[in-house]
Amino acid sequence: MSGAGFWEAVLGEIEKRLRRQQFETWFRSVGVLEATPERLRLAVPNRFFKEWLETYYVPVIKESATAVGGKSPRIDFEIESRPVAEVAPASSPAPSAEGAAVASAPPGDKTAGSLQPSFSPRYTFENFVVGPANRLCHAAALAVVEAPGRAYNPLFVHGGVGLGKTHLLHAASQAFLERNPQARLVYISCEEFVNDFVSAVQHGDLASFRRRLRDVDFLVIDDIHFLARAERTQEEFFHTFNTLYNAHKQIILSSDSPPAEIPTLEERLVSRFKWGLVARLDSPTYETRLAIVLNKASLRGYNVPGDVAEFVAHSVDTNIRELEGALTRVVGFAALSNRSLTLPLAQEALQEMLMARPSVSIEDIAKAVSVRFGVKLSDLQGRRRTKSVALPRQICMHIARKLTEYSLEEIGGFFGGRDHTTVLYADDKISRLLETDLGIRTTVGDIQSELSRAS
Ligand code: ADP
Ligand code: MG
Repeated sequence: MSGAGFWEAVLGEIEKRLRRQQFETWFRSVGVLEATPERLRLAVPNRFFKEWLETYYVPVIKESATAVGGKSPRIDFEIESRPVAEVAPASSPAPSAEGAAVASAPPGDKTAGSLQPSFSPRYTFENFVVGPANRLCHAAALAVVEAPGRAYNPLFVHGGVGLGKTHLLHAASQAFLERNPQARLVYISCEEFVNDFVSAVQHGDLASFRRRLRDVDFLVIDDIHFLARAERTQEEFFHTFNTLYNAHKQIILSSDSPPAEIPTLEERLVSRFKWGLVARLDSPTYETRLAIVLNKASLRGYNVPGDVAEFVAHSVDTNIRELEGALTRVVGFAALSNRSLTLPLAQEALQEMLMARPSVSIEDIAKAVSVRFGVKLSDLQGRRRTKSVALPRQICMHIARKLTEYSLEEIGGFFGGRDHTTVLYADDKISRLLETDLGIRTTVGDIQSELSRAS
């Protein structure tokens, strides 16, 4: 993939992580000057843009680039004086240099006025792959769209992260609006509900807050477990719920856990959440994962051979968001290295991804080794050179070389202020021992897998 192709893939990831308006406003007019997994040089139209992106969007760009390229790039924004051809659409004017038009809030700052987001065209029923782990939720969502307020009220969908809650809620909302274009639907994240309520209280504007939320036919609240942290808002939500419920208006809620397990949720809410149907999303089976990989590939126009799709589906069994990440990674890797997408290449790509997981610290390594060998942490970090300490210390250095990005100097520094040649020597010595000594190989292997499990 050329630099531009890599940037395209990164943009795709960024788009998934932002609200549509944010994406349109801030990323449509960003050009690319250089794009590799190590380095992104992006062209922006003016200084205001540059500062805004630097302040609010660097983390999301890094995260997205890591999803595609396997590592976190350095990012620079350069102001391009020429007018950028593709500016944001009329609905979201590009901000002016004076910073007057702040069209959308930065990520995380979801303020009022977003009750009917533009739904993602990707998050429809057609694009939702059904399998044993989500069949009930899917059927229930269809049913409430068919018979709102009558089939199941409320519909309470719960499941771990990345299992499709938001997708399903978007799908139901879109299908409901297609069938009932005149109806009033409110889709809101619980976080927005809480923020809007707090701000309504502050501005003495509760009446209009209530009108917006109670005068609706179909209320969808994503991530309702967020209410746990907002006691006062629970009371407000209780009344919202009662009003809608008594008027036979449909309510759909999603949560990361079942009602009774949401900490500090008032009992009267817990019991109301169970009045309708509580349905759980589980981790998808292998067959469903495979179907999802094929579905996503075709949606995005990727040509993915069957054995590669099977490999990806086998490799990631945690959740669907990670499954998509792995697919992106594999496709990106092929394009970046200008090779065709084959099974060996996919294996290489995902192996890198698993290795690239940061998060193991030198301390973690030292602790794991100290427990395993029964030596004190302070001895590993000290100057003593007796054999009983020297070998575990060398193992620490070897693992640190393998699992972290620290430099030789940093590793040496941590283990008693040793210089880089000592670290190189240790790394080399342990690598050779691993070839010949089964005991060491088992021990080091155990420590490494323990560390990667913990991270
Ligand atoms: P959650 O809200 O539970 O954290 P999301 O709804 O955001 O999860 O789903 C994460 C990603 O997985 C989304 O890109 C979504 O499209 C995809 N996904 C989840 N379930 C399915 C499914 N059954 N079929 C196709 N894609 C799915
Ligand atoms: Mg979600």
